[in-house]
Amino acid sequence: MSGRFLSIGECMVELSQAGDGMLRKGFAGDTFNTAWYARACLGPDWSVDYFTALGDDAMSDEMVAFINKAGIGTSLIRRIRGRTPGLYMINLKDGERSFSYWRDSAAARSLAADPDRLREAVESAEVVYFSGITLAILPHEDAETLLAEVRRAKAAGKLVVFDPNIRPRLWSSYDVMHTTISEGARSSVLVMPSFDDEAAHFGDDSIEATIHRYRALGAVHIVVKNGADGVTLNFAGEQTFVPAEKVEKVVDTTSAGDSFNGAFLARYLEAGDAPAAARFAAKVAARVVSEHGALVVREKLGLDGG
Ligand code: ADP
Repeated sequence: MSGRFLSIGECMVELSQAGDGMLRKGFAGDTFNTAWYARACLGPDWSVDYFTALGDDAMSDEMVAFINKAGIGTSLIRRIRGRTPGLYMINLKDGERSFSYWRDSAAARSLAADPDRLREAVESAEVVYFSGITLAILPHEDAETLLAEVRRAKAAGKLVVFDPNIRPRLWSSYDVMHTTISEGARSSVLVMPSFDDEAAHFGDDSIEATIHRYRALGAVHIVVKNGADGVTLNFAGEQTFVPAEKVEKVVDTTSAGDSFNGAFLARYLEAGDAPAAARFAAKVAARVVSEHGALVVREKLGLDGG
């Protein structure tokens, strides 16, 4: 199989401490991280594109250049005059990381405000990936536009993939969060939640409960990630457990789930075997948590030779 993998969401400017009070600039965001790992793991028959909105400032230009350099297509990105990307900073105190965000006025919030462009992008892809964060940052009516578009893609037989990535503080209320995330899952073919988020925010008391809830909504396949405790796959009703890889020293768990999703989808698209794809993705995610930062370069992922 070949085609286009389209990831929809927000990529932000990332500032992290580099020592001596200096700050290092990077670019990251859940759906972009997944596109990064999908690109690293997919062969040349697949193109990976990122769909978002950016401004017309120098930082937006730099981000586009960075995305392009990673081999990810940027031609579908919406550029809006006078706007800028969102930004976040990683604070380190006594080895503990915390995050500060400046994203309320980010251009990405308008990514679905041009429905024709969104439709054109979705129609051009075989695989469409989005997340609960993508939905959370959009104004209500734009979230509805995006959901209608992915529903249309699902009806057209495309592989629509959704990671609920539940972040309560991005939502105006629990009610809106529950309703919209459930709608995201209903509009998708494959849902890839993290069990700790689902337990904390939907009250699921078991992985079975998470699978049951998403299947009842209409998702066909579900992959529940559970950190070091492995993943449970339910593909069209058939259930498999795949353990996590042993990691000697966990250095940074940022983007563990995003990298798992990207690697899983890459292998699943190429070989069609979900448990084998999960074993591969567990290896990639294990490398990612053994390194600093959200985006680990391909050479460090151990893709050639296990
Ligand atoms: P998220 O980052 O979305 O919370 P998880 O914590 O469930 O996602 O991690 C996603 C995947 O990353 C897991 O399924 C597993 O393969 C891998 N992973 C995460 N933490 C560890 C760990 N401590 N040891 C080994 N693998 C891990």
